Amino acid sequence: MSRFMNEKYAGLEAYTPGEQPRDQQYIKLNTNESPFPPSPGVLSAVNAAELEKLRLYCDPACTELRAKLAELYGVKPENVYLANGSDDILNFAFMAFGGDGVVYPAISYGFYSVFAALHGVEAEEIPLEADFGIDAEKYCGRNKLVVIANPNAPTGLSISLDDVERLLQRNPNHVVLIDEAYVDFGGESCLPLLKRYDNLLVVQTFSKSRSLAGARLGFAFGSEAVIADLEKIKYSTNPYNVNRLTQIAGIAALEQDEYYKENCRRIMENRRYTADALKALGFTVLDSKANFVFAKSERIDGEALYLELKRRGVLVRHFSREEICQFNRITIGSREEMERFIETVSEILEEIA
Ligand code: PMP
Repeated sequence: MSRFMNEKYAGLEAYTPGEQPRDQQYIKLNTNESPFPPSPGVLSAVNAAELEKLRLYCDPACTELRAKLAELYGVKPENVYLANGSDDILNFAFMAFGGDGVVYPAISYGFYSVFAALHGVEAEEIPLEADFGIDAEKYCGRNKLVVIANPNAPTGLSISLDDVERLLQRNPNHVVLIDEAYVDFGGESCLPLLKRYDNLLVVQTFSKSRSLAGARLGFAFGSEAVIADLEKIKYSTNPYNVNRLTQIAGIAALEQDEYYKENCRRIMENRRYTADALKALGFTVLDSKANFVFAKSERIDGEALYLELKRRGVLVRHFSREEICQFNRITIGSREEMERFIETVSEILEEIA
């Protein structure tokens, strides 16, 4: 830290993104990206003519993209908010709605604690249940912002819509933020509850199911007033937070929704293949509704498996936190990638046997 840095950030521990290595070609199963390219319409929409327009600022209101999302998801444009990845939305939500503190599961998306620390939001972490699930009752009547990833990361486990509704009813004076980054892989979105609850904020992203992680595009649905609050923060920081090319790519992606639905179906098939193969090798695999599985083996330490896979050119995500350090989170890629992954795990297990 330089001697110029504001003292209030002295203790801030920044988020560590998953590795994006450049030293060699890996089978990259560590950051939950899609193995599929963006749809053909996206590839042709981001063309030379659009590149020329980069001299102009983008539309800060994302008018067309917003209207398209509203139409596709059956809400009004006033209920839609767009940002530079869903991380941007989470950041603003902690700023806007964390005045009385925040509560989230102790094991969940690692950025929640960083945003809480960054904005001085008092955070309470509730341990997961013994089966790694979330007991919604423990998040009721808390009188603070509630943040739940559904499906949760890195477990992949989901909570029911009844549970989400209970959270909304029993925290009526605070926002309940449901982070649905992974909902398109077999989860159930709570968006239909928006009609009845003005404290709901549903956050989604183009990074996973719509193959646009590098474009940075996140979106949220909320009541008009909640969305207006987020807009206020956006216009107080960076009104142009969704750049021109990303808006064009997003619009084109929404026009080919069926392409992405088919990709999600393939990911779910590959997830089943991977989970079954891991179980056959003796792994414990949680019942994931996301584009990754969370798995551990009694035969090899979690970190040792991660390192050995990396040495052999397969990258997965390992977390050193004690409760989950025996697990690895494995992104579901193409069928070929998952077959290579399973072969490599089998080799490693054979060698240590
Ligand atoms: N929420 C969860 C639960 C995530 O795992 C991620 C991906 N790291 C995000 C939000 C952020 O995704 P993005 O900013 O790419 O939309």
